[in-house]
Amino acid sequence: MYLDRYGSQVIDENDIEAVCAALRSGVLTQGAAVEAFERALCEYTGATYAIAVSSGTAGLHLAYLAAGLGADDEIVVPAITFAATANAALYCGAKPVFADIEFESGLIDPRSIEDLIASKTKAIAPVHYAGNLCDMKTINEIAAERKLIVIEDASHAIGSFNAQGASAGTFGAMGVFSFHPVKPITTGEGGAVITNDLNLARKLRLLRSHGIERGGLWEQDMTALGFNYRISDINCALGISQLKKLDETIDRREAIAALYDQAFAKSALIEPLKSAQKRGSRHLYPVLIDSVVDKTKLFAALREKNIGVQKHYRPVYRHSFYRAALGDHSPLPNAERFYEAELSIPCHAALSDGEVARAIEILLALTSSI
Ligand SMILES: *Cc1c(COP(=O)(O)O)cnc(C)c1O
Repeated sequence: MYLDRYGSQVIDENDIEAVCAALRSGVLTQGAAVEAFERALCEYTGATYAIAVSSGTAGLHLAYLAAGLGADDEIVVPAITFAATANAALYCGAKPVFADIEFESGLIDPRSIEDLIASKTKAIAPVHYAGNLCDMKTINEIAAERKLIVIEDASHAIGSFNAQGASAGTFGAMGVFSFHPVKPITTGEGGAVITNDLNLARKLRLLRSHGIERGGLWEQDMTALGFNYRISDINCALGISQLKKLDETIDRREAIAALYDQAFAKSALIEPLKSAQKRGSRHLYPVLIDSVVDKTKLFAALREKNIGVQKHYRPVYRHSFYRAALGDHSPLPNAERFYEAELSIPCHAALSDGEVARAIEILLALTSSI
C-alpha cells in the first residue's frame, strides 16, 4: 500500500489500543506516558537522558539553546538537509553556515566543516541523511580540537547504529530525533533530544516548559525564557507502541532496500547511495540519476504512474528566505550536483514485494527511455 508516497507511517491495532488507553487514563499531558516514552528511548539508544518534545524542530531549537548558541555565534550545518536544521539557529539569533556534502553519500564533508570554522563558530550539526551515519569520529576530532559542541540532527536516524552498536544521537553532546509520520517511528508530531550530560538534560527540560522550575506552592520560579515545547501523553503512548516494533519495521525497509540495490546494480543510469553501514533506519531510499536523464520529465512520468518520488533536499541556501536573509551563497559543488541527481523512491514498511517490483520496473523503463 502507498506506492504513491516515498515514506509512510504504519499504524496497527496495538498503536490504536495504546492511544485509546492514554485517552482513558485521565492524564493527557505531563503524565506517566511521557516519562515512560523517555525511558524507552534511553533504553533503545543507550543514552542516559531523553527529553521528549513537540517536534524535531523544537528539539533542535532547545538543543541549540542548551548549547549556548546565541547572537554572533555560528553553527556549521550541511547544505543538503531539511530547512529546520538551519532555521533553529536563526531562532537563537545565531547564523547557520553551510558545509558541502560528499556526493556519493549525501553526508556532510568533514573537510568542508574544517574550512568553515572561524572565531564565531560554536557548534556543528551533522545530519544523518537517510539514516546513514556521518563520519562522527572525524567530526568529533575536529570539534574537540576547536572546542565546538556537536549536535546531531538524527531526525532520519532512530534505529541506526554503528558497527560497535552505538546509536545515532549518542556521538555528540546531544542528538535530536523527529517523530513526524514519515520518519522511522511516529508520535503524530513529536521529537526528542538525547544526551548523557545531566546539565544539558536539565536545561532542555527547563526550556521545554516555559523555563519554570517546579517547586512547592510558593516556590515556582521562572529562571529562563522557555517555551511550551511539551509533547502530550497521547502522542507518547503512540511513540512507546511504535518504538516496540521499530526493529521489525527496519527489517522490512532493509529487505526493500536490498531488492532495489540488486535491481539497480545492473543499471548504468541509477546509482544507489553509498553507505558505510550494514544496517540503518532507511528513512529514505535515495538514488542518484545520471545527468543524461531529464529529471523533470522523469519526475513527472513517475508521478503520472503514481510512484511517490520526492527530492531531498534543495540546498538550504537556495531558498528565497535564505537568499534574502543571508545573501546569495556561492554554489557548493557537491550539494548542487546532488540536488540535481537525487531522487527518493518509495521505501517504507507498508509496501509489498509486488509493489517494490512495480516501482523497479517502471523506474528502469523510464530512465532508459526518457
Ligand atoms: C523532519 C526533519 C526535521 C524536523 O522534524 P519535525 O519533527 O518535522 O519538526 C529536522 N531535520 C531533518 C533533517 C528532518 O528530516
